Amino acid sequence: MTILDGNKISDDIKAEITREVELIKSKGEKVPHLAAVLVGTDGASMTYVNSKVKDCAMVGFDSTLIDLPEETTQEKLLKVIHDLNTNDDIDGFIVQLPLPGHIDEHEVLMAINPDKDVDGFHPTNVGKMTLDLPAFISATPYGILELLERYNIETSGKHVVVIGRSHIVGRPMSILMSQKRKAGNATVTVAHSRTVNLKAITQQADIIIAALGIPEFLRGDMVKDGVIVIDVGITRVPDSTKKRGYRLAGDVHFDSVSAKSEYITPVPGGVGPMTRAMLLKNTLLARKWRL
Ligand code: NAD
Repeated sequence: MTILDGNKISDDIKAEITREVELIKSKGEKVPHLAAVLVGTDGASMTYVNSKVKDCAMVGFDSTLIDLPEETTQEKLLKVIHDLNTNDDIDGFIVQLPLPGHIDEHEVLMAINPDKDVDGFHPTNVGKMTLDLPAFISATPYGILELLERYNIETSGKHVVVIGRSHIVGRPMSILMSQKRKAGNATVTVAHSRTVNLKAITQQADIIIAALGIPEFLRGDMVKDGVIVIDVGITRVPDSTKKRGYRLAGDVHFDSVSAKSEYITPVPGGVGPMTRAMLLKNTLLARKWRL
């Protein structure tokens, strides 16, 4: 069993980006600039946004955090997005999800200029990705592709089972894995909450990408020997032995599944750091594509 080390691979990617930024600087050009919009005080969202800002500093990007109160109106948020769309200094920006209940998430995402949509959530980018055209691929699926590629994992002709059909993970992942690409050319099954007898399906999988958000859902008896497992799930599970009162759990029961796996991602240290690195990669691409 080999651990797919997202910490190591994401460090490699960040080092590559840092070198590119140094080159940009040495030519006297503008470094990439990412902005992040946070609405409200959700603990997990604040942690995610702060780490994105820290990551920017690490690779030499400029970053701007726009921290808005919970009661921000839809109109005000759309104005902030409009300003970011038209601010030439900003190469890419993200609006941290989830947004407070009174805000129409779809309308907000639609308002983002697709050329600056480094999260890759705008229909223009999703459509282009689906048609194999250059596009911002959302960071989590992009990170999983990169992890598979950098470990030289053969996916061609393999049966990939993606558990989850969300717009940000499961759906794009299933499309990407079926496309003609290095980490692709797979035969893909998409499982979801209405799937019947999932165990019979996962037992046939060569590669399983678990993205359902139910801690330790995938267990050893659901997989075959030699399976490759990508665990996307991150759930905070109460744990009184930890100082912060919780631990992070994946969607995979690590001990029983890893015993049968050829490769497996840990949680934490697998897909999470890859997601962070690919947001940086998309921001660098945004800078290049705007030149
Ligand atoms: P989501 O809630 O939007 O989607 C969950 C999907 O799982 C749905 O499509 C649903 O049909 C499916 N599902 C639910 N119960 C199921 C069941 N019993 N059997 C089969 N399918 C079932 O979640 P999401 O945004 O795709 O995120 C999934 C998990 O991945 C969460 O834990 C989230 O925190 C995590 N996540 C991690 C990263 C990362 O960087 N590591 C990024 C995004 C999401």
